[in-house]
Amino acid sequence: MQTNQPKTNHANSSKNLQGKMDIMSMLRNILPYIRPYKWLISTTLVLTLISSLLAQVNAIVLDKAVDSINDLLHQPSFAWSQAVRILIVISSILLGKELISAVVTFFQRYFGERMRILVSRDLSLDVVKRMLSFRMAFFSSEENETGKLQSRIDRGVMSLSNTVNNLFIEILPLFTTAIMALVLMFKANVYVGLVALFIVPIYFYVTFIQAKRMKNGRRSIFSSHQKVSQCILNIIESISVIKSFNREKIESERQAIIQNAMTEQQLSIRRQGYFFGGLKSFLEKIGTVLIIILTAYLVLIDYPGMTIGKIMYHVMLFANVSAPISQLHRIYDDLNDALIYAEGFFGILHADHEIEASGKHVSSDVKGNFVLEHVDFTYSNGTQALYDVSLSIPAGKITALVGLSGAGKSTVINLLDKFYVPQVGSITLDGVNLNDWDTQNLRENVGLVLQKNHIFSGTIEENILYGNPKASHEDVVFASKQAYIYDQIMQLPEGFQTQALQLSGGQQQRIAIARMFLKNPPIIFLDEPTASLDAIATEQIKAAIDAIKTGRTVIIISHNIGQIIDADTIYVLQEGRVVQSGTPQEVYAQGGAYKSILDASARSMNVDKIAEIIGQ
Ligand code: ADP
Repeated sequence: MQTNQPKTNHANSSKNLQGKMDIMSMLRNILPYIRPYKWLISTTLVLTLISSLLAQVNAIVLDKAVDSINDLLHQPSFAWSQAVRILIVISSILLGKELISAVVTFFQRYFGERMRILVSRDLSLDVVKRMLSFRMAFFSSEENETGKLQSRIDRGVMSLSNTVNNLFIEILPLFTTAIMALVLMFKANVYVGLVALFIVPIYFYVTFIQAKRMKNGRRSIFSSHQKVSQCILNIIESISVIKSFNREKIESERQAIIQNAMTEQQLSIRRQGYFFGGLKSFLEKIGTVLIIILTAYLVLIDYPGMTIGKIMYHVMLFANVSAPISQLHRIYDDLNDALIYAEGFFGILHADHEIEASGKHVSSDVKGNFVLEHVDFTYSNGTQALYDVSLSIPAGKITALVGLSGAGKSTVINLLDKFYVPQVGSITLDGVNLNDWDTQNLRENVGLVLQKNHIFSGTIEENILYGNPKASHEDVVFASKQAYIYDQIMQLPEGFQTQALQLSGGQQQRIAIARMFLKNPPIIFLDEPTASLDAIATEQIKAAIDAIKTGRTVIIISHNIGQIIDADTIYVLQEGRVVQSGTPQEVYAQGGAYKSILDASARSMNVDKIAEIIGQ
């Protein structure tokens, strides 16, 4: 399907976001998303005009009807035929108007809704496209945690597209109708028009006070709702802890406190809502009474142009004037909600500084020679992960990064894959600074096998094909054979069409390795590929890893001695610093951190005892 994507000027629009967002800047930001649908807007506007005109028909017809009937009554000889003619004309006009009105309303609503759906699609597409272009730091910052980011997007899209819908099927029609009614009132009689116009600001004022008072209440209900769901979520997540400590009572009491506070807030907001609703309705009635008194008076004094019909005429027109005002408060609430969410949403859309940088250097013959010189790196939350790291990763060799958890090993890989950029120092690949490399070209040449989380929901075949979407089924089969997973796949009832997420951790890991064979990059990063797997799965994967290592530049992070011991070079990291380097034998002979880690691993595995049992 062809999408009518709006062209937004993100750089310019982001200026509008400085400080808090107001209604005008929100509308300015939505404008580029409405603009592609000019014909929809024009049609809706024409329909709005027609329906606003139709809304005045009742008043006009009633005015004429009352006057005609009145004239008829005052004629010397009453003619039924004339009365019937008047009734037929009135009912035909009224019914005809209702019919046209129904058709116009249908299209007005349908087009308004169509616009909402299309704008909602465009907003979602645009935000996802933008997000995909962001650098990794954006996703790892606290304010963009998965749940938070998702709700900012969901709520933003929903409330902004609702605003568009509100604008076209509520605000515009209501206000056009009101203005037209006011113009007609003025045209018929300036004094009546002035009274109506005088009452309007009073309504506005009351609505404004209501909206202001209720705004805080609505905010606190909103945050209570969040607390309630958070509390329920905690209960579900920690149910085994709650039960094992017999803390059911405490948890239900905690819920009760939050629920009671929310009940109070809800009741108070309802009270205020009904109070203002009543006040506005009373003011509206006062307005109507004033109009009746004034028009009746003008009729009685025989003011030019004022007939009995005009009393009804003005009362009905006044109803059109006051209708949008009673809705004003709801519209104001919706706009306020949209403002809150728009801020977060456009914040994502205009985060230009988050866009991933890319250089221009492209190579079709990447060797994999990385050199880090005096690299310092600090994550956006302020954690410094690397201090003055210098290391060299030779092409075509296996380099192991060793160290305790949190030493900075994965951070090194993150930097090599350009997920993050170091603040100090330089990183080169084959002699070219990483900043100058084309990011896509670099990543085409790098294969990343992580501990977990890299299997998508989809079939085994789809998952392996992710490595090279153009590959044939035969290629997929060959890759799975290279990763030592083919036989196991064939034993599954659905073979390559089995859902990959149903596989065990060890099998999933080999699917990820098969995918790497298909991608066939000259550089492979293995970040704890066998962590959290049992011994049998680890052994099965070892064969696959050994196969993928050959002829490539490999960087491996692992707590598994078997995998690091046959590295060509080892770098030992401790609290973000390189403390040792050399061949496994050299580094072991130096003593220090690596020796302690290796000895501790051997002891924890009870290597002597195992050797004794195996040797028997
Ligand atoms: P290792 O791989 O050696 O276990 P890492 O490179 O993952 O260590 O982490 C090094 C330090 O950086 C740790 O203190 C860790 O808490 C921190 N860190 C890692 N990833 C992030 C991140 N995305 N945001 C903030 N701090 C991080």
